[in-house]
Amino acid sequence: MHELSLLQNVRDILEAEALKQGFCKVRQVTLEIGELACIEAEALRFGFDVVMKDSLAADAELVIEHLAARGRCRHCHQDMAMDGLQQICQFCGQYGVDILQGDTMKIKELRVI
Ligand SMILES: [Zn+2]
Repeated sequence: MHELSLLQNVRDILEAEALKQGFCKVRQVTLEIGELACIEAEALRFGFDVVMKDSLAADAELVIEHLAARGRCRHCHQDMAMDGLQQICQFCGQYGVDILQGDTMKIKELRVI
């Protein structure tokens, strides 16, 4: 389950930010997941408490937001919504839509003490 290693990265980032910004406890973590990121929200929720145990985010609430995927055609340069990584352009009908957003996960917001 790669969600666990993603969460371990999140925990490392939180610990680094805590040192940099001088907070000692995280109240709430908002993660933004792209629709095409292949990350299961349920797996994140399941793993969150396990990974954050004994860390500064041990009691933190996890908020998950979904980000719609968008891409741009390499041929006609139109932007469009994407529902798969191999998409045919809806404007010119060719393959080759480059993803603009929606294939990653990021920490969107932190509430800290
Ligand atoms: Zn096109």
